[in-house]
Amino acid sequence: MRLFHSYALLAVFLASCYHSQEADLVIHNAIIHSMDEQNTTYQAMAIRDGRIVELGPERQILNRYASERRYDAGGQAVFPGFIDGHCHFLGYGLNQLKIDLQGTRSWEEVLERVVAFGAAHPQKNWLIGRGWDQNDWSMKDFPDNDRLNDLFPDRPVLLQRVDGHAAVVNHAAMEIVGLDPEASVEGGLMVKREGVPTGLLMDNAVTVFRSIFDQADEATKREALLEAQRNCFAVGLTMVCDAGLDVGSIELIQAMQKEGLLKIRVYAMVTDSPENLAHFAKIGPIEEERLSVRSVKVYADGALGSRGALLKAPYSDQKDHHGLQLASREHFLEVAQWCKGNGFQMNTHCIGDSANALLLGVYGEVLGGQNDLRWRIEHAQVLSPADRPLFAQYSVVPSVQPTHATSDGPWAEERLGPDRIGSAYAYEDLRKTMGIVALGTDFPVEGIDPLQTFRSAVFRTDGQGLPEGGYRPENALSALDALRGMTIWNAIASFYEKEVGSLEVGKRADLVVVDRDLLKVVPETARSAKVKATFVNGEQVY
Ligand SMILES: [Zn+2]
Repeated sequence: MRLFHSYALLAVFLASCYHSQEADLVIHNAIIHSMDEQNTTYQAMAIRDGRIVELGPERQILNRYASERRYDAGGQAVFPGFIDGHCHFLGYGLNQLKIDLQGTRSWEEVLERVVAFGAAHPQKNWLIGRGWDQNDWSMKDFPDNDRLNDLFPDRPVLLQRVDGHAAVVNHAAMEIVGLDPEASVEGGLMVKREGVPTGLLMDNAVTVFRSIFDQADEATKREALLEAQRNCFAVGLTMVCDAGLDVGSIELIQAMQKEGLLKIRVYAMVTDSPENLAHFAKIGPIEEERLSVRSVKVYADGALGSRGALLKAPYSDQKDHHGLQLASREHFLEVAQWCKGNGFQMNTHCIGDSANALLLGVYGEVLGGQNDLRWRIEHAQVLSPADRPLFAQYSVVPSVQPTHATSDGPWAEERLGPDRIGSAYAYEDLRKTMGIVALGTDFPVEGIDPLQTFRSAVFRTDGQGLPEGGYRPENALSALDALRGMTIWNAIASFYEKEVGSLEVGKRADLVVVDRDLLKVVPETARSAKVKATFVNGEQVY
């Protein structure tokens, strides 16, 4: 018996060859959810040169590997690094440097914040704010610029709604940009009262001011990107899909990654513009360790909150109004053909049922049937049930934002009515159709926290845990699917699945330590879940 025992021990010893292998980092005493096909769980893993070399039981890994560093996870859960499938990484960073109007409860409070900011920053010419939402006010009417003109007769002011699709500007701002009150802007709306603009702009009328936002100099953009990265690492994000960047911003990100300053992975969607497309037609896609550029971001319509989403039937709360189509079908078709010809993925913002139908039709015309080009519909928010099967028919990936469901829930039905609301924010229906959904936040429209995405997807509750029982819970995702949506499915949606998205041998060691097992939480315990550490390529970045 004793003899057998020592033979057995010897066998184990030989098999593990005590510290026979080198590693840079060993993570152990963990519940590692690999998110591989079966979501195999492990206790420990060894990392070398930024990649996972082995996963296994605690003793096996600790015995086999001599490593410079050990990270004791204290029995906590480890997941692949979170990926935000649709956000505005640079825009969020720049916003951090703007007047913060989120959480204001009246137009009065917005004005107070602008006045205070203006007084504190006398050197700034333009006053740019972002984040107001009239749905949070007791007076839910859209604001105008009457008071703004009195307060700032000469200094230009631009205040964007939380979704970026509407803004109020004062007279001084309109004059500087040369916005003609008589002109009409295609795909945009300049609201007028008795023929005079009120300063309220929608969609492409806001875009007229893009040059002002883009005026941020390189130093400001660098500061913004580093600020955004810091905050993303703190919530467990190791990769972001930025839904719309121009050539200059992409080149800046590339430069900062080469300098070693930006370590977060960036899947950069190129903003649909003639200059950007001409540039990438010439140089082709970019595939680097931390940067991938092989997709074009297109806008089909506006947002539901500002009634810019393009609907088949009129808005339930605005007679005869269908929303805005931001470009012609010919244009969408032309971009689709460009994408197919140049090896780029096409990712189109579609909120309303009509916008979704229009673009699924354009995709179908160009793609012809099933394929592995992974074109995406961003948001896929309001869909006619009859159009949903088109995702499977043309292999289109729905890229959705669970926090939109819980943020819009309180007012979305006013816009859509009792019938259409049933097929809005229907993430589980989409998952069943396509097999995968890519999950994101659209930050800064929403907060950046992937754990809130998880709660909104699984429990359909907002940051306050509301509504009780969840918003239309029949379209909740399972905890495992939500985590897949935040990791491996996002990797697939951005062609990164060979490198990241799951913890498997050979893949990059992008991972996050969370203080509880998200596959076992209930709403109460999920609310206080926290990210404890974040690693990119095996390097601890938070
Ligand atoms: Zn977006």
